[in-house]
Amino acid sequence: MSIQNEKQLEKRNLVILGCGPAGLSAALYGARADLEPLVLTGMILHGQASTTEMIENYPGFPEGINGPELGQLFQAQAEHFGAEVEMDQAIKVDLENSPFTIETYGKKYKAKSLIITTGATHRKLGVPGEKEFVGKGVSYCCTCDGWFFKEKDIVVVGGGDSALEETLFLTRFANTVTVIHRRDELRAGAILQKRAFSNPKVRFLWDTVVTEIMGDDAVNAVKLENVKTGEEAIHKTSGVFIFIGHDPNTELFKGQIELDETGYIVVDKYMETSVQGVFAAGEVADPHFRQVITSAGMGAAAAIRATRFLEELEEN
Ligand code: NAP
Repeated sequence: MSIQNEKQLEKRNLVILGCGPAGLSAALYGARADLEPLVLTGMILHGQASTTEMIENYPGFPEGINGPELGQLFQAQAEHFGAEVEMDQAIKVDLENSPFTIETYGKKYKAKSLIITTGATHRKLGVPGEKEFVGKGVSYCCTCDGWFFKEKDIVVVGGGDSALEETLFLTRFANTVTVIHRRDELRAGAILQKRAFSNPKVRFLWDTVVTEIMGDDAVNAVKLENVKTGEEAIHKTSGVFIFIGHDPNTELFKGQIELDETGYIVVDKYMETSVQGVFAAGEVADPHFRQVITSAGMGAAAAIRATRFLEELEEN
């Protein structure tokens, strides 16, 4: 008998992949519609928002709220109404035949409907030294690693909201934070730009890219290139924080549902994918807004449509 056959099989009305703001909002709405939804968390509990120190633009929290705390509140509310949250990850899905099959490391599920909220993963620079120095000076998470850089001079790569938000957070610990951006204009929003420009610990290197991350036991420098002049330089640093955008987590679904040219799941205004009964919400289907509030809204919409879909299924 194969290992696959030995896996315990469970039948479900609604399975939700991912447990960020989209997944847990879908779970809340699904639970309140009595669908007894199952959330498979994936590897990152509560999604990317949980790695954010302070979320200041989610309504209802005028003083802002800590990312992990908001994630826990989302989960507690969904569970309160009957959603089940399982720390497990889908490793294989079959969306061709309904009910859909979802396989995790330990179990196999047959689901009448599925909501995909697998989010996106931070992009890598792809330069020599990046992989080698992860955990030794290279980081993608300030909340996780910022503390290790007390009184140090460090760099942040990127020019978007994430780069500036994290830069400002890092100034709590670091001596200086130098933002290295490939253009001479930031992509980040006005408020963050204003805060960063007025912070005495923050410096900027414009029109510059990192071509190598250098060190011995840990990072001690980055090799830089000015993209306008071609000039190269070595910049001493103890840490390299990389925030250059994200790629959607859609590997599992390739060839089974429609993806756009950059890999995001294509959904209509009802969060329906190209497969009937399969919905998607949050960053995995949203290359534009990527906010906690928009992801939560998409999750709620997906669950409302999934409820309708299941009702119609019952009627036929
Ligand atoms: P983003 O907006 O896509 O910005 C990525 C930044 O990295 C850009 O400045 C980009 O440069 C740069 N970059 C991309 N590839 C690069 C490479 N290979 N080498 C060097 N630089 C590179 O990503 P994000 O900052 O992660 O934000 C993602 C989304 O989340 C956005 O919609 C943002 O508004 C949202 N967000 C919002 C908040 C908030 O509201 N407080 C906080 C975090 C994120 P170019 O500018 O030249 O393209």
